Amino acid sequence: MVNPPQVCGPAVPTQGAKAVWRPLGVRDVDITGGPLGRWQRINREASIPLGLEQMERAGSVPNLRLAAGEAEGAYQGYRFQDSDLYKQLEAVAWEQARRPGSGYLEFVAESAALLGRAQRADGYLNSHYQVVKPDKIYAELEYSHEMYCAGHLFQAAVAGARAGGDERLTAVARRLADHLVEVFLKGGDDGIDGHAEVETALVELYRVTGERSYLDLAGKLIDNRGKGLIKDSGMGPLYAQDHLPVREADTPVGHAVRQLYLEAGIVDVYLETGDESLLECSVRRWEDMVATKMYLTGGVGSRHDGEAFGERYELPPDRAYNESCAAIASIHWNWRLLLATGHGRYADLIERVLHNAFAASTSADGLRFFYVNPLQRRDDTVEDAYLGRRREWFACACCPPNIMRTVSSLGHYIATTAERALHVHQYAPGAIRSGDLDLAVATGYPWAGKVVFTVERAPAGPWSLALRVPAWSAGAATVTVGGETVPAEPDERGYAVVTREWRLGDTVELDLDLTPRLTYPNRRIDAVRGTAAVERGPLVYCFEQIDQRADVDDLALDPRAELRVIDKEDVPGLGRTALIEAGAYAADPPTLAYTGTPPTSTPPTRVTATAVPYYQWDNRGAGAMRVWLPLA
Ligand SMILES: [Zn+2]
Repeated sequence: MVNPPQVCGPAVPTQGAKAVWRPLGVRDVDITGGPLGRWQRINREASIPLGLEQMERAGSVPNLRLAAGEAEGAYQGYRFQDSDLYKQLEAVAWEQARRPGSGYLEFVAESAALLGRAQRADGYLNSHYQVVKPDKIYAELEYSHEMYCAGHLFQAAVAGARAGGDERLTAVARRLADHLVEVFLKGGDDGIDGHAEVETALVELYRVTGERSYLDLAGKLIDNRGKGLIKDSGMGPLYAQDHLPVREADTPVGHAVRQLYLEAGIVDVYLETGDESLLECSVRRWEDMVATKMYLTGGVGSRHDGEAFGERYELPPDRAYNESCAAIASIHWNWRLLLATGHGRYADLIERVLHNAFAASTSADGLRFFYVNPLQRRDDTVEDAYLGRRREWFACACCPPNIMRTVSSLGHYIATTAERALHVHQYAPGAIRSGDLDLAVATGYPWAGKVVFTVERAPAGPWSLALRVPAWSAGAATVTVGGETVPAEPDERGYAVVTREWRLGDTVELDLDLTPRLTYPNRRIDAVRGTAAVERGPLVYCFEQIDQRADVDDLALDPRAELRVIDKEDVPGLGRTALIEAGAYAADPPTLAYTGTPPTSTPPTRVTATAVPYYQWDNRGAGAMRVWLPLA
């Protein structure tokens, strides 16, 4: 059965799909504080208004006016400029659902009308090809991004439909999807877009419309990948994951965003068709990625060349690419795997990505963005004209609107429902509702490890509250019900489950272990061998020059020294944070790259090294930063 139009978020499997758990609606979760609440407020007040302004300035909207024959002039920007507008429309749809009365309705109405006028009579829609290369439509799919753009339109339409029954974009999206079906499913064209994305979007459009051919086309595009059907764009077959059929590939390769959007589509098709071979191959690549190709921050894609995955353990901190969009794609993939399997390890990774690789992509004021998220910056960085700092916008602006649509839908990833059970995957203060159940959530997470749930309305009969115990707190978490300690041993999926007949005012308290800890890299990661990083709870920490008395690049960490947490209500530029002080030594600055004398194991000067959460870096000026410090 297809989902009825309802207020719900991204990636909602149909009734009867293979999902172990079901998502809640957008309005079923309120986030009222903590970092997630802050990001949502900043997104609404600063980022989205900036994004809307850029839709005009950067050319996305003017290009569509050209396609509609309503303006004259030159096409602006990249061939995938339409997709920025689609992601922006998705962001405002989720925001509108979360907080009705946002004032975006006019923008959505105008955009939908313009898209309708720009769309050809046969349903085709892509301003670049209509204006610049009308004779090359679907002729250069290896780099055209036509289906990629279509996918983002579908996701915007799905958001509009789910967020409040707005059907204006859906009509445009359906005409374009029908055109794709005519050409690539019924018409027998075996073309595949070089940039995966449309697969997951087609499944989502199927979930909203019930049109089976959209799901069938997604399945065909996935089945045909890896058969050499994508022409070489000059980047080789790995770049577009066309080197092997998806069921045979055992490791993520090539352009990281493409690989991970493809994985989201693969799991989506599994969820709707039950084809186990798709889930199996995706899980296999997930395990390899997590073990060998992922940064501590959850970021992926270690190579600037091709914005790509590197070899196993090729994870240099300074040259890390870690595109913000890859972090977002990872959240998409993990969310679908969580729904498909019910295993908390995917929620663990969502938390790691969300609080580190993803959160670092945006400045504290919401007005600057990273495209690339390294784990080290030197003070003489020459990375680009912006010296490795966040920027207001980009010529290729895939990341900022992608960030905005993710933040406005964050509530969606907090909890899921199952038969007489509620699973809480992410912790933030606020409220969770599911059917006849209302819970208030009080917590200072991630600055404090205590999360208190108070039952404000409960259905009759017993039901289970299942709380994710993150891997970093396994064995050290406690759960109390009404002040009485109960077993907190996580089940095989990583959740502490409490089943009761609940009454109004009952409380459940989860205490997670936020003792700061050192994390050591695998020896094969050559670039950080002999170092350690500081973590606390879900947060990876980093050392910024502004907080050190010695040169950050001469610091050596004393692994035996205590790590001290310094809570700070307000650090200028950062807001609420918790610093960590670590015992360290400062070495004399080097003069030569190479010498015949082995380095002394313990540098001479004892100092305190101060770390801040990685996601808060680059908010207090330029300067060196590093996550990994050599061990003294
Ligand atoms: Zn991007």
